[in-house]
Amino acid sequence: MVLDKVTSPMCPLCGVATEDLYHFVVGCSLKADYWREVVSLLSRQDLLPSSLAVWTALTSFCSLDMVLLDEDVLVALGAAFTTLWKYHWESVIDVDPWIPSAAINMVQHDHHLIFSSLSS
Ligand SMILES: [Zn+2]
Repeated sequence: MVLDKVTSPMCPLCGVATEDLYHFVVGCSLKADYWREVVSLLSRQDLLPSSLAVWTALTSFCSLDMVLLDEDVLVALGAAFTTLWKYHWESVIDVDPWIPSAAINMVQHDHHLIFSSLSS
């Protein structure tokens, strides 16, 4: 049962912080590295230079200066979030470590068309 695996408020991946929603999505250093790679794959480092920028995009659909982001960028971020969610729970349920390269391979595999159209 899944709940048996969630026995502590601490992040099961890094083990050093309480897992709130921000930590789950971008705050964990493992997730921050994941998003940095995703943004790099999308060639949007100028638009999304930090974890806070990714969080703002996911929660308000805007850049840090509150300009509405293009739909293709939002779709890619949403797609990357579904992979983050899937890989997070695979790691927790199987009690496997979060492997950064595996996370990036998974997002590229799962969302190949979105990433190939945005990356150039
Ligand atoms: Zn963590």
